[in-house]
Amino acid sequence: MKVIDHLNKAKGTLLSFEILPPLKGKDIRSIYEGIDPLLEFKPSFINVTYHREEVIYKERGHGLLQKIRLRKRPGTVGICAMIKAKYDIDTVPHLICGGFSREDTEDALIELNFLGIDNVLALRGDATKGEAQFIPERDGHAHAEDLIRQIAGLNKGQYLYEEEQEAAPTDLCVGAACYPEKHAEALNLTTDVAYLKRKVDAGAEYLVTQMFFDNTKYLGFVERCRNEGIKVPIIPGLKPLTTLKQIAFIPKTFAIDLPDGLAKELVACRSDADVKAVGTAWCIQQARELKAAGVPCLHFYTMGRNDAVRNILSQVF
Ligand code: FAD
Repeated sequence: MKVIDHLNKAKGTLLSFEILPPLKGKDIRSIYEGIDPLLEFKPSFINVTYHREEVIYKERGHGLLQKIRLRKRPGTVGICAMIKAKYDIDTVPHLICGGFSREDTEDALIELNFLGIDNVLALRGDATKGEAQFIPERDGHAHAEDLIRQIAGLNKGQYLYEEEQEAAPTDLCVGAACYPEKHAEALNLTTDVAYLKRKVDAGAEYLVTQMFFDNTKYLGFVERCRNEGIKVPIIPGLKPLTTLKQIAFIPKTFAIDLPDGLAKELVACRSDADVKAVGTAWCIQQARELKAAGVPCLHFYTMGRNDAVRNILSQVF
């Protein structure tokens, strides 16, 4: 079932979460172990992230370095198909522009269609390590907006080459990302929201936010979007902080601010256990407030920390 149908039919706030494919070489059990403890909360859909290949250098002795292109977390589509078959839960594979030509994208969409997957989250992806800015693939898309337009086109039966134009349309529900505190590269929130409107006009049926820790930022952002004519559901994305390491990288990596109340408690933390206690309590508070405000769905970035998410869900749903 499509995410937009879940949202339209919902009587209250839905639950969804995002998981990462395991590192190459790890087996699928880590995915079961991530999902099983959360099943009792009846997630409406599960997102599975996509990870593009990275360039790494391996020491080969005598001062020689070998350049290797490696996808560290393959398996997005396979995991989505497995979740549907094993758990009968709808899935949302993430699809990015980076590393994909338009033809690669078309083939990936055909594959999703054949597997009976009804959804896709359309993203640009980040620059690869070593690149100063995002560089699209030759004949690939520079922005999520163009990817969304291609998916919307395929939903009307518009394939890339003329002889296939009479071919069967796909029927994929398209979601897109949004940033309550603006995307890191955006000049400001005004330009970012203007581009966001273009993604919606191109065919995005709902939006999922970047993680945030201050609900007033989300609520203000939704209001701003509504004023700019963006009417689709905007699903808040929440992440419980659980380690000292996350405090160091999350604000910089995701260009987000931690509110004073949370920052004050975090600076006093001396161990991962301290951070987990503070981060979980904060996330419970955020989730309760958002649910009371009537958000369509609460989306959790689990990042493998399902015990913290489970604790939160047991107190919110
Ligand atoms: P875009 O919408 O293309 O925006 C990127 C930047 O360009 C913004 O600054 C925007 O203001 C600007 N812009 C947008 N459209 C235009 C235009 N037409 N012309 C000029 N400028 C424009 N990354 C992954 O690699 N894999 C994942 O699975 C993944 N999942 C994610 C899930 C969510 C919910 C979120 C919020 C992010 C996710 N990301 C993922 C990260 C995402 O790929 C990065 O944040 C990326 O830098 C931007 O992606 P986007 O789709 O928002 O890009």
